Amino acid sequence: MERAIDDRQRLLRGLPSVDELLRDDGVRRSAALCGASVAVATEAVRGAIDGIRAGILSGALHEVTIDDIRASVAARMKGALASSIRRVINASGTVIHTNIGRAILGKEAVEALTLAAEGCIDLEMDIETGDRGERDCLVEGLIKRLTGAQAASIVNNNAAGVLITLNTLAEGREVIVSRGELIEIGGSFRLPDIIKKSGCVLKEVGTTNRTHPRDYASAITENTAIIFKAHTSNFRVVGFTAEVGLKELVEIGSARNIPVVEDLGSGSLVDLTRWGLPGEPVAGESIASGAGIVTFSGDKLLGGPQAGVIAGSAGLVERIRKNPLKRALRADKLTLSALEATLRLYLNVETLPRTLPVLRHMIRPLNEIEEAAQTAAGLLRDSLGYGFTIDVEDGESVVGGGSLPGHNLKTRVVSITHGTAGPERIFRYFLNSDPSILGRVSKGRFLLDMRTVERPGDVVPAGVFVP
Ligand SMILES: *Cc1c(COP(=O)(O)O)cnc(C)c1O
Repeated sequence: MERAIDDRQRLLRGLPSVDELLRDDGVRRSAALCGASVAVATEAVRGAIDGIRAGILSGALHEVTIDDIRASVAARMKGALASSIRRVINASGTVIHTNIGRAILGKEAVEALTLAAEGCIDLEMDIETGDRGERDCLVEGLIKRLTGAQAASIVNNNAAGVLITLNTLAEGREVIVSRGELIEIGGSFRLPDIIKKSGCVLKEVGTTNRTHPRDYASAITENTAIIFKAHTSNFRVVGFTAEVGLKELVEIGSARNIPVVEDLGSGSLVDLTRWGLPGEPVAGESIASGAGIVTFSGDKLLGGPQAGVIAGSAGLVERIRKNPLKRALRADKLTLSALEATLRLYLNVETLPRTLPVLRHMIRPLNEIEEAAQTAAGLLRDSLGYGFTIDVEDGESVVGGGSLPGHNLKTRVVSITHGTAGPERIFRYFLNSDPSILGRVSKGRFLLDMRTVERPGDVVPAGVFVP
């Protein structure tokens, strides 16, 4: 016992000081190699000494060499300077996955955003006159053309779009919403909360499953500012149901001069049924039906960057633009550049399945997914080795992001099981690889859905599996 305490004292006394380590050739070499500043190196040295001291005191370390210390310092410097952002390969089977950043951008959008990042653009400047311009102008023309709206404005995301629209048009007044549409979209978007935060008074009408035109009509008072319609994105009411269509709401509203605002959620710009997908609300149809304002996300079905599109009548959009909240919720030059490039892809709907990754992944042919799955399965059999069983089977993907609720897309998945390790263990092994590989666990098996994976080799994890 005393002998052990002596050993610890000896080891502790033998540890170099912070200054000595900072002057050490080995430490200086690795600091230069990873570009660590003096501050970062000092912090790493202190951390390494503290860690080793704790190891000695706990009895875990019985011997400490200078190379051990150097290695610990180097690892700490590297760790301090490494990016905390990990690339994730989406093999989850969810095309638009909020937790990993929703839509991936098309090539044109990436180029536009790089251009804007590397230099300056005419964000708020009229190039012909040199006068101050309006940043919405960068995309407004395209949105008008693609939706038929008279005007458009862009904010941070669709939640912001709903917030600023309600605040502008209905602050201190009543907003009529059907009880069947008082939605929560996951995360923190709950319509009743947004309505409250906008300074408006929620007036619920109808019931969860059935709301009739008379419910809206009889709820209108002189304090009613807008009739609000929300797309029930990630759930569906089925069975004995009734909802009032937008056209009818517009009729009810316009008789009393009350605009209808529609939160489309995903809001497609084109009719997806032309590619065999179920119909999602198309922004242009809502405008044509007389909605005063529609709002939708930039990074869901639209396939662009995170943004909220507000489109509608010129008078209403102008009021929204003048709201001081616009300054707080506005989009930056990177977003607007990527959005503009994405919207331009819609000018040629024929080539959209090639140019827009979100659409390409939604309608990817089964035989192509099958081929990718077989290639991936072969590569995984070679690399994972003993104990694993790897098959290719039928599966179902979803669009995600609240789009096309209840609709599944037939897919082919690589299923991976292990003799002793459970699916959750395999899930974490893939997720902890670099880049991270996001699969999913279903019915006791770990699955990789190849629908959204561009290169089959991307789903082969690095590092060894410890069951
Ligand atoms: C997704 C969604 C939102 C929120 O949009 P963000 O762009 O994520 O802010 C709001 N309403 C509906 C109906 C949605 O589907």
